Amino acid sequence: MSKINNINQLNDFLPQDLNLSDQRMPVLFLGHGSPMNAIDDNEFVRQFQSIGRSLPTPKAIICISAHWFTKGTFVTAMKRPQTIHDFGGFPEELFKFQYPVNGSPELAAQTKDILQPIQVSLDQDWGLDHGAWSVLTHLYPKGDVPVIELSIDYTQSPVFHFELAQKLSTLRDKGILIIGSGNIIHNLRLADFNGIHKIDYGYDWALESHEILNKYILDSNYNPLINYKDLTKSVQLAIPTPEHYLPLIYTLALKDKKDDVTLFNDKLLAGSLSMTSVRIG
Ligand code: ZN
Repeated sequence: MSKINNINQLNDFLPQDLNLSDQRMPVLFLGHGSPMNAIDDNEFVRQFQSIGRSLPTPKAIICISAHWFTKGTFVTAMKRPQTIHDFGGFPEELFKFQYPVNGSPELAAQTKDILQPIQVSLDQDWGLDHGAWSVLTHLYPKGDVPVIELSIDYTQSPVFHFELAQKLSTLRDKGILIIGSGNIIHNLRLADFNGIHKIDYGYDWALESHEILNKYILDSNYNPLINYKDLTKSVQLAIPTPEHYLPLIYTLALKDKKDDVTLFNDKLLAGSLSMTSVRIG
């Protein structure tokens, strides 16, 4: 038997966990847009697919979705989270869509522990809302990575969410992929739904807020982003309610000095929405 064969056999024998233990996982913010992205083929979902292929395979995922906005902090702790169709007015095909994956009661318990003294309740009722499955189905189409969701406490301030997220940092070294899923610019009331398929279509205020917010993200200048209510009128129009914006704050809180920050899907659509997504590390 040649020496090379021996080395190959040794690599085959190494447990996967050993390879993952020294690999720090990136962190993502994904602009999820319409739930239809789960079943559509477009430039945004092709980027999600490509990001999924470019990442080391995580042991599990923690998703912070705009669509689980609760009083108090919860983490899903069931073995098999259900696919929740938390919307109305979409085609039957979307209501039939399923993303069957495992949960991770172990990771839920670990997350609750890490976040102490913040009270976190282990949840058995939720599952995966479309903020999670509409993007995860593109990143991990085989559904072979366990997923838990962490809720966003709507009674708390952005700085609370930033500091809470920082406590999750050590999980990056344990092969856990942390994903915030929302939309940075998200004003549905002003959206031009006739222009929903017109990409690179943003109102003047959306273009202005897009430039301001992206600069702070790329400069890693997070104080103005945490205190976004003190920013321009254009930013207030971009973020009329916090639930789609706060998942970005979770993602940014996990950046290390060594991490690069890159944007993708950085486009406006329907006048008042952005698909801008962020990769850290
Ligand atoms: Zn949404």
